[in-house]
Amino acid sequence: MVAQGGVISTSSCFLSLPRHCRPSSTKPPRLALVAMSDDPIREWILSEGKATKIIRISPVGGGCINLASRYDTDAGSFFVKTNRSIGPSMFEGEALGLGAMYETRSIRVPRPYKVGALPTGGSYIIMEFIEFGVSRGNQPVLGRKLAEMHKVAKSKKGFGFDVDNTIGSTPQMNTWTSDWIEFYAKHRLGYQLKLARDQYGDSTIYEKGQRLIKNVGPLFENVVIEPCLLHGDLWSGNVNSDKDGEPVILDPACYCDAQTTGF
Ligand code: ADP
Repeated sequence: MVAQGGVISTSSCFLSLPRHCRPSSTKPPRLALVAMSDDPIREWILSEGKATKIIRISPVGGGCINLASRYDTDAGSFFVKTNRSIGPSMFEGEALGLGAMYETRSIRVPRPYKVGALPTGGSYIIMEFIEFGVSRGNQPVLGRKLAEMHKVAKSKKGFGFDVDNTIGSTPQMNTWTSDWIEFYAKHRLGYQLKLARDQYGDSTIYEKGQRLIKNVGPLFENVVIEPCLLHGDLWSGNVNSDKDGEPVILDPACYCDAQTTGF
């Protein structure tokens, strides 16, 4: 059997304010140039993003952690998330995950464009904006496309990922490990058990979990375990469909996990 198991800182840029809010023309022009380079999102969109004008910036609701916006420009729309308190590492993890899934050309994911720091602190990510359709899409097609991604994206580095990332806002350790049992015991179950003990004082669950960890190995005897790329945080809030009904997956916590043969 084969089981295939994967802003805007308003203070940063007065050029982003409505015209009536902008400083009066008595301000020296040099100040305008300095302010523009202080808004890296706008700057990227108007350079590498190939837009000459940003027509509208609108908030996008529905996220759990970050502030999301849609930038409509004369070169199309961009989706932007910002976080005022966390540095770029969180969005770097998201961008690497999106990029890894995008490269498989199997299931639709937004193409990541740019991650960086905000001058006032915090960070941003710019990616392809996807216009969603009315339904959550065709679930059998979603399943097939996910399986396709798992088949295509085999890892040669073992289990883990090139960077640690976050699942929700919980850190997720992705240290490359050649043995899946060790990876699962240390970086998945073991890590979560430590968090439960350290943050909630729950030593009972910790002890039980440790016993489970000791007994995982024998359950996988004679099973070939190969690493493949997973979305890593695939719940209904991170699944959608585009205007053509094609499934889209978003907001990943990617890493390479087990694909097993021999159960
Ligand atoms: P958070 O990181 O705060 O959880 P999400 O990634 O879930 O934020 O995105 C917030 C909202 O934006 C969700 O409603 C999601 O459906 C929507 N969204 C996410 N990515 C895109 C995209 N590339 N294009 C259009 N809408 C998007």
